[in-house]
Amino acid sequence: MKKLGFGLMRLPLLDASDVTAIDEAQLCRMVDAFLEQGFTYFDTAYPYHKQTSEGAIRRALVERHPRESYLLADKMPTFLVKEPEDYPKFFQEQLERCGVEYFDYYLLHTLGRDLYGKTKEYGGFDFVRKLKAEGKIRHMGFSFHDTAEVLDQILTEQPDMEFVQLQINYIDWDSERVQSGKCYEVARKHGKPIIVMEPIRGGALASLPGEAEALMKQCQPGLSVPSWAVRFAASLDGVMMVLSGMGSMEQLQDNTGYMKEFSPLSEEEKAVLEKVVEAIQNSVAIPCTSCRYCVDGCPENIPIPEYFSLYNRMEQTRDKGAEKEKYEEMVKDGKHGKASGCIGCRQCEEHCPQHIEVVQWIGKVAEVFA
Ligand code: SF4
Ligand code: SF4
Repeated sequence: MKKLGFGLMRLPLLDASDVTAIDEAQLCRMVDAFLEQGFTYFDTAYPYHKQTSEGAIRRALVERHPRESYLLADKMPTFLVKEPEDYPKFFQEQLERCGVEYFDYYLLHTLGRDLYGKTKEYGGFDFVRKLKAEGKIRHMGFSFHDTAEVLDQILTEQPDMEFVQLQINYIDWDSERVQSGKCYEVARKHGKPIIVMEPIRGGALASLPGEAEALMKQCQPGLSVPSWAVRFAASLDGVMMVLSGMGSMEQLQDNTGYMKEFSPLSEEEKAVLEKVVEAIQNSVAIPCTSCRYCVDGCPENIPIPEYFSLYNRMEQTRDKGAEKEKYEEMVKDGKHGKASGCIGCRQCEEHCPQHIEVVQWIGKVAEVFA
C-alpha cells in the first residue's frame, strides 16, 4: 500500500467562500489521477465540508470505480453523539451518504480526555467492535487530539483498537501542546500502526520564512516545501499512511510525484530539517515560553500563552487563515477571554519572567485575529 492518503477535508471549491460548493468535476479528475498512479486510500468524515464531503466522494469515487480498487475511511462523529442509539443512526447515514456497504477503516473521531470518557460511557468502543464482527468495517481505530498520557490510557484500556490517527509534523514534534513526538512514542510502545493527519499542519508548513525555505531548496531544488513535511511523517517507523488534504490537481500532482516511489528522508535531509526547525523557531516574534505565570491572575481570563503561540505560528508560516480559525474556535467556546478584552491592568507583565510587554502584544493579537 502506498503511504499517501487523500484527505477529503479541503476539496477544490467552485466558490471559495462556500465550503459546500465542491468542484466535483475537478474532484473526479483528481480521484482518477490518484488511482491511476497506484494510490488507494481516501479519508472522509461526517462533518467535513459542512457534511458534504461524504456525498462528494460517493459521486467522484464510489459510483465511478470498483469497490475493491480503493480503501475508504470514515469516522463516527463522537462529538455529536447524545445517546447510545445515535451510533447506529450515524453509521447507517454514513453508509448511505458514501454509497458503500462497508468501510475499510473506521475511526471514532477526535478523541481526547472528555470525548473518550463519553464514548466509553455510551458504548462507542463496543459499537465499533460489533461493526467489525459483522463485516461492516474492516479495521477499527480512532483519531486523537490530546496529550500522550491520555493516549496511553486509551490504548491501555482499549487494547484491541487496531490503529491510531495522530497529528504529526516536524515543527510540533517537541511541542508540549501538540506532543507529536510523545504521542508517536506511545503508539509505538503499544505496537499500533499510525495514520498521520495534518502533516503540513493545515497548510501552515507549505509556506515558510525565507531562510527555512532556502535551506530546503539548497538541498533539494526539485522538491516542494510541503514535500518535506509529508516525507518527514512517512519516514517514521510504524507510520502506515500519511493523509494530505488536497485542494487542487496541482497539489495532488506534487504529492503523488514524490510519494509514488517514496524514499525516506536521508541523513543529510534530516540534518537540513533540523536547521529548518531552528530557523522557524528563531523567527519567533514573541519570546513566550508558555510558563503560564501570567495566566492565573488575569481578570479577563485571557489565555495569554496560547494566543501568543497562535500569533507566533502565524508569523512563522505566513499563514494567517489557519491560526485565525484556531483563535476563533478558542473564543467561541466561552471559556476564554478575547484578546480585545484586555483592560491593561498589567498584572501579567509583573509576573512574566521573560519581561514580555504582554499588553502591547495582546493588543497586536487582537488587531490581527479579531
Ligand atoms: S493586562 Fe490584559 S492580559 Fe494582562 S492580566 Fe490584565 S487583562 Fe489580562
Ligand atoms: S509569563 Fe510571560 S513567558 Fe510565561 S506564559 Fe506568560 S507571557 Fe509567556
